[in-house]
Amino acid sequence: SRQEVAYFGAGPAPLPTSVVEAGGKAFVNYNDCGLGLGEVSHRSPTANKILADAKANLSTLLDIPDNYEILFMQAGGSGEFSAVVQNLVSVWIERRRRRAEADILKANPGAEKEQVDEQVFQRLAKEVDEELKLDYLVTGSWSLKASQEAARLVGSKYVNVALDARKANNGKFGKIPAEDTWSLTPTKREGGKGSAFVYFCDNETVDGVEFQSFPKSLEAQGQDEENERLVIADMSSNFISRKVDVSKYAVIFGGAQKNIGVTGITIAIVRKDLLPPQTATPSPALLHRLNIGGLPGPVVLDYATIAKNNSLYNTLPIFNLWIAGQVMADLVSEFGAQKVSGQEQVADKKAALIYGALDKYPEAYQVVPDKSVRSRMNICFRVYSGDDAKEKEFLAGAEKRLLQGLKGHRSVGGMRASNYNAVPLENVQKLVQYLEDFATGQ
Ligand code: PMP
Repeated sequence: SRQEVAYFGAGPAPLPTSVVEAGGKAFVNYNDCGLGLGEVSHRSPTANKILADAKANLSTLLDIPDNYEILFMQAGGSGEFSAVVQNLVSVWIERRRRRAEADILKANPGAEKEQVDEQVFQRLAKEVDEELKLDYLVTGSWSLKASQEAARLVGSKYVNVALDARKANNGKFGKIPAEDTWSLTPTKREGGKGSAFVYFCDNETVDGVEFQSFPKSLEAQGQDEENERLVIADMSSNFISRKVDVSKYAVIFGGAQKNIGVTGITIAIVRKDLLPPQTATPSPALLHRLNIGGLPGPVVLDYATIAKNNSLYNTLPIFNLWIAGQVMADLVSEFGAQKVSGQEQVADKKAALIYGALDKYPEAYQVVPDKSVRSRMNICFRVYSGDDAKEKEFLAGAEKRLLQGLKGHRSVGGMRASNYNAVPLENVQKLVQYLEDFATGQ
């Protein structure tokens, strides 16, 4: 039964049993309306209320400021790897287009529109060629994949890997080198032209590496376009597990299937001034002419379109949205005024218990990432320094106790205990007991 199994899968991940049980009912006959949530129209009042409630609860939990839009999308974290490139490079072009147009009109106020447009295009083409840069901090498998997607879409020439954390760690992820070793594209104040955005993955699910706080060097250097940094963070695997200062970000995104719900819903929190009318989407004709790969991209990944349509541009999976909304509503009522900080304390406590047990037996267990970057969500470790027979024995013993989902990602091996929000303290205690028993030969 659900009560007997302690599941530590990395995603899809456990959900609160109360939500799963209520979900069963909602799938059959939602609020006694005679239809299940897989059947109601996404344009019905029922769906609209579910959408509004989910937004309100997420806003409450993370204190999302009014100048941010919450978007519900569908292509997963991987879809967002493409979406952020498509949308933020468009913002970069539109901002540059406006500046070019203003300069050209200032120099030649009576110029014909066609002539101005041609000059704008010539200047933009040069600027794209020489100045378009997308900064990536590569600290694990997922930020690596995101940077590869950017290179695939727009071309590797435009992608600046400002940090490849493997370089300082024998070719493996597991550390975040000091910020003064990163090579971010300099802003105007730093003597450069700035990048279209800086991208990082807040918590690397496969490698167990988490940023412990917001990097200082990503702080805005000023409010103006040429000095601010547009920061994008992938929070797929640590969403709503700690307090976040949303105002520091241009975009925060994450798939629901770890801390928030079931697969099929992706959340993007986007600063409103990056959307029309403040920053219009450049015309498809201009984008085609500039010939930057991947632009214009699919309309279902276009933040402006999704925002304009209140996340209902096309059919949103309302059942999946309801699950996410329910998880968030429960956190709001459980933690009240503490909001996400309440959940953060729980997550910290559970992670400390697991790391404590691992550190207690250094011969039996080796935590993979450096102590300074240990993830509270995905706890990656080796058993007897990766001894194959010992690791198999560890997993078989765990299975016997119905401790499941502990096998590390196939790309790195070893063990991974995922400690998402819905993993109960009792299950963490069962794991800790097993870690003790295995290490002491019981
Ligand atoms: N980013 C992170 C940090 C992830 O952990 C994952 C999935 N494990 C993804 C992105 C990709 O998400 P999806 O499978 O929803 O595309």
